Amino acid sequence: MNLYKYVCPFFLIGILVGCQSGIAEQGIIHHEVGEAQNELQYEDHYIVNLTYPKVNIETVDTEIQKVLGIYKEAYLQKVSSYREEEKAELNISYQSYQKESRYLSIKLNVFEHLLDTHEEVRTINYDQKSEQFIHIDDILEKGGLAQVSKLAKAHFLVNAPDECNSNQFKIAIAPVKNNFDTFVLRKDAIVFYFPSGTLFDYATSFEITYDKLADFTNLSQEEATVFVPYDDVLNEPVKNIDPNKPMVALTFDDGPTRKYTGAILDALQEHQASATFFILGSRANNAPDLLQRMVLEGNEIGNHTFSHKQLTTLSKVSIEEEINQTQEFIHNITNKYPNIIRPPYGSKNDAVMQCAQGKKLVTWTIDTQDWKHRNAETIVNMVINDIEDGDIILMHDLYASSAEAAIIMIPKLQDMGFQLVTVSELYAYGKNEAGKIM
Ligand code: ZN
Repeated sequence: MNLYKYVCPFFLIGILVGCQSGIAEQGIIHHEVGEAQNELQYEDHYIVNLTYPKVNIETVDTEIQKVLGIYKEAYLQKVSSYREEEKAELNISYQSYQKESRYLSIKLNVFEHLLDTHEEVRTINYDQKSEQFIHIDDILEKGGLAQVSKLAKAHFLVNAPDECNSNQFKIAIAPVKNNFDTFVLRKDAIVFYFPSGTLFDYATSFEITYDKLADFTNLSQEEATVFVPYDDVLNEPVKNIDPNKPMVALTFDDGPTRKYTGAILDALQEHQASATFFILGSRANNAPDLLQRMVLEGNEIGNHTFSHKQLTTLSKVSIEEEINQTQEFIHNITNKYPNIIRPPYGSKNDAVMQCAQGKKLVTWTIDTQDWKHRNAETIVNMVINDIEDGDIILMHDLYASSAEAAIIMIPKLQDMGFQLVTVSELYAYGKNEAGKIM
């Protein structure tokens, strides 16, 4: 099955416009470059959760670290005196693109919650040929910026007519380099980002396909890479679960990641075991083949929100967006809507419960704290020594040690007499709804 195909880019024009900074376009692969890295600190009063790419170009990786370091340092300074009940949070996620095997674009989505919520976008653009970071005037010839400004203005006059009379708008839409220097080079279009407080009081974005800038740039139109939807339903396995024998559910959060999710799926398949993957909507598109494989091999996919923010700090509209976007992404790829949600950090309140709309909110009964231990033996022993019928085990398919632990644990648990089933199967076979948030 050839999973990826190319579509006419014109279908995709306009999808992004008006979206929030952290929400990406359905169907388009948006981790084109680099291996995803994750850094998590989960403390009494605050959380730091950074996801970023390692692209193996020293200058670029150093720049990414520098940018992350600036945000982290400023945030840690602020949280040192922060003592609210709600944990403070710094959440940085990314998108990355490659254009004409020459340009790399990395977009960092910064979300900070202390007493207030603050969001911003940072972009890093790099030319592998000249080995330089680039700005918008490096890819547009004379008159190009004026053309971009003109197209952007025309777009917003149609889409936000009431808000285009302000001085703020007039200043921020003017053909000045700094106004248009937060951008990424996607295969089919340049996407510009405007933080809140620039064009409008909210963040927005605008994209231009290269053909509309043909007189001003050498970059040419390529088609965006998208994936083929899942249609292999007939080959999904029929399960043979004995309701009278003990069963437990392994769960893996925050993926998928190409390296570790693949290794875990291999081990599950080898031992005819199932697990549940609580995936992030922001990562789904980047490994549609892994999601389709999960379903095809009898595993379950749960919704772990789009960008892994503490839902309890968000408005109801934002919570819905986090959940529903992810539902749609997963459905788009696998033809199935998840029935279960695991809120990041297990954080929930009434608003979260309402937004779940009948889907089960699931936490866990054994927390391996694999993100902290980073040691396979420790993780395996924690589970083996503690496990009982009906348990739900929390791990993450983000780390080598977790994948290693899963590979050891899967046959070991089966030898101990446990059937490895999905969370929904655990519930269906009447195991007291372990880990369910009531
Ligand atoms: Zn998580």
